[in-house]
Amino acid sequence: MIINIHSHGPATGEEWVLKNVFEHFDRLPGTGWYSMGLHPWYLRENDWKGQLALLRAKSEQPNVLAIGECGLDKVCPTDPALQKLVFTEQVKLANETGKPLIIHCVRAFDDVLSVLKHNGNKVPVIFHGFYRGLQLANKLLGEGHYLSFGKALDLKTLQQVLKQLPPDRIFLETDDASISIESRYQLAAESLQIGQDSLSLQIQKNAVTVFGPAPFHYDN
Ligand SMILES: [Zn+2]
Repeated sequence: MIINIHSHGPATGEEWVLKNVFEHFDRLPGTGWYSMGLHPWYLRENDWKGQLALLRAKSEQPNVLAIGECGLDKVCPTDPALQKLVFTEQVKLANETGKPLIIHCVRAFDDVLSVLKHNGNKVPVIFHGFYRGLQLANKLLGEGHYLSFGKALDLKTLQQVLKQLPPDRIFLETDDASISIESRYQLAAESLQIGQDSLSLQIQKNAVTVFGPAPFHYDN
């Protein structure tokens, strides 16, 4: 089994997918595994409270494994105060339900860390689509968080960052990019200088640590 921790599309081939849902929470299917959250790009002043109420109701469904992607984005036009408010509510929801957080963060890492801290976050946190340097990676890992790598792993500079990280704190993803999850495992295994099979097994273990054993056919 190869795990794709963040995708907007259906599973293909051998992959196990945590599919991201950012709208139509009321239409969530009963089968498959999902992360569900209010994305900072799509927040609207007039309906976020209703969306959050739906998210809260649906997050009790056992196949919702994580809250998110949610977070802060300094590049998108959404009002920063609204972003912070809605992100904070989702951090609280994750802690009430005990479900991990999948974080979307663009140029707002200190602010995201501060929201997590000020709300006494206790659930595991995965920063998805990590694209930055070693110093920030180590800072996030130092806080106990996980990093997920996707399309940006095409960059040699990011491969050099990954090379220096502990494999027990990483995940891989396709997000909404037209790339295969297999290509991410290939690049990551080369960077970490380990075999693809041991990388797959390591990421299965990471997933069990974060989400518990139930969703996985765990073979060690
Ligand atoms: Zn995404």
